[in-house]
Amino acid sequence: MAVLKICRYGEPVLRQRTKPAEYGEIAGRLPELLRDMWDTCAAANGVGLAANQIGLPLRLAVIALPVGKDQVRRFVLLNPKIVGKAGLMEEDEGCLSFPGFFAPTKRYAEVKVRAQDEEGRHYELSARGLLAKALQHEIDHLDGKLLIDRVAPVDKSQVKDHLKEVVRSWDKPQSNKAGQKQNGKA
Ligand SMILES: [Zn+2]
Repeated sequence: MAVLKICRYGEPVLRQRTKPAEYGEIAGRLPELLRDMWDTCAAANGVGLAANQIGLPLRLAVIALPVGKDQVRRFVLLNPKIVGKAGLMEEDEGCLSFPGFFAPTKRYAEVKVRAQDEEGRHYELSARGLLAKALQHEIDHLDGKLLIDRVAPVDKSQVKDHLKEVVRSWDKPQSNKAGQKQNGKA
C-alpha cells in the first residue's frame, strides 16, 4: 500500500492536459499504479482521483462512489470521454487539490462517458447525481481544468484569500487527515 502526495492548486502538473494512455504500454504497471491511486484516494477520503493529481500526466482517473455504509463502487477510467450530456445541476463541490474549499459548481445533471477499464476493455457508462458530477470533475482534471475555473466570479472573489492560503501552505508538510470530515472531494 502506498499513499502518495496529492498535488495542490499551484502545481503546474494540474494545468497540464494529460496524455492518452495506450493500454498496451501501461498494462504492466497499471495494477500497482491503480492500487496506489485507490489507497491515496481512500486515505484522503475522496470520491475520485486523477493521475495528474499524483504528478502523472496520464489520461487515467479513478472514482470510488460511496454506496451504502462504508462501501464504494469503483470505476477505472482510462481515456475517458464524455459522449452525451443532458440537464444542469448546481451543487457544492470540493477537490482534493484545494483542501477545505467548497463552492457551488454548475454541472450537467446526466452524462454518458466512454472509457476503458483496468483490463483495457472499452465500456460506456451513463450516470447522474454524484457519479455524473465526479466523472465531469475527473475528466476536467485530465484536461488540465480545475474546480476554480467552474466557479462563479462572485464565489471566486470570496475565496481568493482562501486560495492564496492554499498556495502558501503548499510547502508545509501535508496531513492526510486534512478535511476528512467533508465528503464529495475528488
Ligand atoms: Zn479535484
